[in-house]
Amino acid sequence: MGEKNVLISTLNQLNIQIKDEQADALLSFMDILLEANKHINLTSITEPEDFILKHIVDSLIMLSRDYVKEGIKVLDLGTGGGFPGIPLKILYPEIQITLVDSVGKKLKFIDDAARNLGIKVELVHERAENLGKNKKYREKYDIVISRAVANMQTLSELCLPLVKVDGLMIASKGPKYNEELDAAKNAMKILGGQVKSIEDCTIPIAELERHVIVIQKTNATPAAYPRKPGMPNKNPL
Ligand code: SAM
Repeated sequence: MGEKNVLISTLNQLNIQIKDEQADALLSFMDILLEANKHINLTSITEPEDFILKHIVDSLIMLSRDYVKEGIKVLDLGTGGGFPGIPLKILYPEIQITLVDSVGKKLKFIDDAARNLGIKVELVHERAENLGKNKKYREKYDIVISRAVANMQTLSELCLPLVKVDGLMIASKGPKYNEELDAAKNAMKILGGQVKSIEDCTIPIAELERHVIVIQKTNATPAAYPRKPGMPNKNPL
């Protein structure tokens, strides 16, 4: 099967509708990233079919069309090489997306790639703990989404301060998601979050088990959080 067929048929099986030109843009992003990966370390997944399933499809399952409205503000925390933010912006051009990472050279790569693809994204080079204290970003996002950055306990403190009250934090987890959620109960209570839904799926061919966890922000986050850089990880709530 060709690369485009793998992408489109896998997404079809997962009920994700995609236009032909969006599939082309996603594959162009893969090509650009794999080329840049020869010089900067962005991913260890370099075989195209693996890349499509484990990066592109794995990113696209994270945001259901049900949550997408014209102009909503979405923030991808710890975007690395642009996941899930860039694939999501290609699938949903109507969202405004801010990609955050503490490593500048990864954002430089995304800036070049986004220009090349003609897509508009905001890039912020900062740690989540500092962003959460900054009035310009604190409680300003409809959705904060994050993949492969931290466990739910730590991630709650990095993400929830940035989410508007009534907004959503979304994370994707593997088979041990229940243990992570249990450990994060206290953190979510303190930070103003509540589990809204857990969407289960398996990514075909790669057979990856995924649980997309949607947390609703029900209360404002107390001013003491997030704590200083490093603390959410070193001493989780
Ligand atoms: N989300 C991408 C993906 O799924 O491929 C990258 C995952 S990578 C394992 C984790 C990324 O999170 C790294 O690029 C790292 O620099 C970033 N990161 C970790 N802690 C962070 C923090 N406190 N603030 C901002 N970025 C952070």
